[in-house]
Amino acid sequence: MNVYDSQRIAGILQSLGYQETTSQAEGDIVIFNTCHIREKAAEKVFSDLGRALLIKNERKEQGKDTIIGVCGCVVQAEDEQIAKRAPFVDFATGPLTYHRLPEILERIARKKNISIIDTDFPAESKFDYLPENHSLGACSYLAIQEGCNNFCTYCVVPYTRGVEYSRPIEEILKEAKRLIQSGSLELNLLGQNVNSYHGEDKFGKERNLAYLLHCLAELDGLKRLRYTTSYPADMTDDLIACHKDIPQLMPYLHLPIQSGSDTILKAMNRRHSKSDYLRIIDKLKQANPQIGMSSDFIVGFPGETDKDFQETLEVVNHVKYIQAFSFKYSKRPGTPAALMSNQIEEKVKKERLEILQTLLFEYQDKFNRSCVGKTMPVLFENKGRHTGQLIGRTPYMQNLHASLDKENLNKIINIKVTEATTNSLSGEAI
Ligand code: SAH
Ligand code: SF4
Repeated sequence: MNVYDSQRIAGILQSLGYQETTSQAEGDIVIFNTCHIREKAAEKVFSDLGRALLIKNERKEQGKDTIIGVCGCVVQAEDEQIAKRAPFVDFATGPLTYHRLPEILERIARKKNISIIDTDFPAESKFDYLPENHSLGACSYLAIQEGCNNFCTYCVVPYTRGVEYSRPIEEILKEAKRLIQSGSLELNLLGQNVNSYHGEDKFGKERNLAYLLHCLAELDGLKRLRYTTSYPADMTDDLIACHKDIPQLMPYLHLPIQSGSDTILKAMNRRHSKSDYLRIIDKLKQANPQIGMSSDFIVGFPGETDKDFQETLEVVNHVKYIQAFSFKYSKRPGTPAALMSNQIEEKVKKERLEILQTLLFEYQDKFNRSCVGKTMPVLFENKGRHTGQLIGRTPYMQNLHASLDKENLNKIINIKVTEATTNSLSGEAI
């Protein structure tokens, strides 16, 4: 979602006549788009801002002004900290208000030495104010939903991105058509809880994600569809059926369980048990036996015992994820879990994360190696490090390197996989 927001912020600046630079020292405006999900991500921005100030001072000696801005969830959650720890910041605006950037920059241009911090939860939707979105390559993100009403006890998202909002169907279709016309072959629909999507159609009737996927699958020229991130309790049967009925829907789904222990899931305020989750996976596999699963995990949530942690490992052994993201529980200010008295020692969190990641990587590695000898359609998005090499994505989101001319960029090519490591594949065009 932050990559999407950054692209949209760049789009706003381009519409004002700015151009992207390759180095920070050349930037008349430097913007940090920030994440508040874990403490490590949030702290990073303050060290980055310190470095940006040094560059701003160097540029000043050369007679150049620099505007430093901060966007994203850290602004929403820590506006006072930004004002205190980085008073040189010219503006800070939250994830729901960055469409106001033109007005903010105009105010800064008119009146030097003011600092603007905008952390409203605005009544208007930013999507109504952003400039038209065009493809930057063959794979595009398309935000269809934002915010969250679930309030998992560890998570800041409902406080930083606000309550759930679904964009209307027609607006999404219009943006999708524009992205396809400007070169997108793949659309990745985004939302913090993308599968709780409930936008209105042109008659004002509420429609769900399954309906939207069917509408998108009708669009000429669209070859691949994905959606992320899904909340297990919102995996409805009609959405699961899309994995059987819509050929453009890629056979890969990110469906975070977080923990394999029902006690911990309850303390996390997740609306699914371990067996609910496994039942959904069974149904998905019935709908499409080729589907590969991915998940997020949190280890060391307050009160997590060795037995709870073992249950997480059991889920991993059962599902055999082809990819996953795992984190140590991070205490977030203002969330209920941060106040729980049974916090887990750092040392234990670290040990559990190592054990979990070793197991997850084993399955990822096994899956990647099982692809050797197979032929896969690969969408090539980037040039590789070596000349004559391109990097693309398989249907399972694996990175694949191949020796190909750059004319093959932004195309889907059938590739025979010849080598595999834990993190990537190599192959040859057939
Ligand atoms: N809506 C998605 C997740 C969005 S947040 C869902 O409910 O599954 C992305 C991931 O960050 C989460 O899945 C979780 O694994 C991780 N995360 C969120 N808050 C965290 C915290 N306080 N500590 C550690 N990881 C966290
Ligand atoms: Fe955060 Fe996801 Fe839970 Fe919402 S559902 S509170 S985004 S972890």
